[in-house]
Formats: sequence, structure tokens, C-alpha cells
Amino acid sequence: MFIIGLTGGIGSGKSTIAEHFSALGVPCIDADQTARDVVQPGEPALTAITQHFGPEVIQPDGTLDRRQVREKIFADPAAREWLNNLLHPLIRQRMVQQCQQAQGPYCILMVPLLFENHLQSLVHRTLVIDIDEATQIRRTMLRDNTTEEQVKAIIAAQCPRQQRLALADDVIQNGDEVTATQRQQAVYALHQTYLQLAAQHQS
Ligand code: ATP
Repeated sequence: MFIIGLTGGIGSGKSTIAEHFSALGVPCIDADQTARDVVQPGEPALTAITQHFGPEVIQPDGTLDRRQVREKIFADPAAREWLNNLLHPLIRQRMVQQCQQAQGPYCILMVPLLFENHLQSLVHRTLVIDIDEATQIRRTMLRDNTTEEQVKAIIAAQCPRQQRLALADDVIQNGDEVTATQRQQAVYALHQTYLQLAAQHQS
């Protein structure tokens, strides 16, 4: 399977662009969803977390109380490290498995922190969704009903825009200056490129 790593900063439009690829029949795997999948009831990771942090991290319906876990690891670096050491390899493994099981010549693996977590080795090529910071802040504030300060703090903790662009194989612009038609054309052009690259990869 030929794997495209789709990434970009908060609110850059990763999900929006992934939907365009989905509409073309390309399987899209979302790392955030995979991260939720590995701690579903019945998963060994959930049992391990319960044993480590206590039954109070489980909600009455049996699902993980993420807020409780966040609070527990907030001021405890050792607990955070323990959790990351448990979950990161599992998430990585599950994402690779999901990509291998996907149908089609290539798939999109959407990983918000692809560069930050040095996960480039999981993918054959990287696609960055790029947006100017003012638009990124405005759209995220609107979507998440959050403050400018909060969005800026998240952006500051992520890979800087220029560094992300320098690491990208491909870029889709998603600012207000790009029309919906232009965006769809950009996706379609890349789709053609990826089909060719996937064919070469298989031969
Ligand atoms: P996150 O990493 O925070 O989950 P994301 O990169 O997946 O975000 P989206 O959720 O796709 O970003 O987009 C962020 C917001 O911007 C959404 O509300 C979306 O509807 C809006 N948006 C995305 N692209 C455009 C566009 N080209 N024009 C206007 N609004 C857009």
C-alpha cells in the first residue's frame, strides 16, 4: 500500500481536504480516531490504564474518562511518559494495520502531528495543508468556540509553518484566496500523481 501522510497545523483544513480525497474513493485513516480506537472498551490498553490510574478513569458506560486522565498526567511527567509509552506504539501499529487493510492503490493517513512526532517513516510521501496564521486562528476560534490566546498557544506548540512547508513533498493551499474549484482541482491533480506513484511503487 502506498501511503500519503496528510498533515497541517490546527484548523488548517486537514479533515476538509481528506473529505475531497474520500469523495474520489481514496481510503482515509484518521490518527485521532485510531488513538480513540485503541482505548475502546475491551482493548488491552484500557485495562492497563485502569490498572495504572485506578477505576476512577472509567465512566459509568465503560469508556475512558479522558478528562480524568488528562488531569492525572498534567502535573505528573512520569505518568505522562508511562501513558505515551503504552499508547504511541499501539497507535502506530494500528495505523499501519489500517493502511495495509485499506482498499485501493493508495491511502491517506491523516496525522496532525506527523512532523512533531517524527512519524515520516510511516508514510511514503507527505502532503501539507497550508494556511496563513490569521485565517487559521479565525477558523479554529469559530469551529471550537475558543479564544485567540488558546489557539495561538496550540500553534506555538506545533511545528512552525515554514518548517512544515520545508518538510512537505506536496502542499495544498487552503486560505480564503483559494476558491472551492481551485481546491478541488488541486486535490484532483495530486490524486492523479498519487495514482501514478502508487503504480510505480507496486511494480
Ligand atoms: P484540526 O487539526 O484542528 O482537527 P483540521 O486541520 O482538520 O483541524 P478542518 O476541521 O478541516 O481542519 O477545518 C477547520 C475549520 O475551517 C472547519 O470549521 C472547516 O469547516 C473550516 N474550513 C476548512 N477549509 C475551509 C475553507 N477552504 N474555507 C472556509 N472554511 C474552511
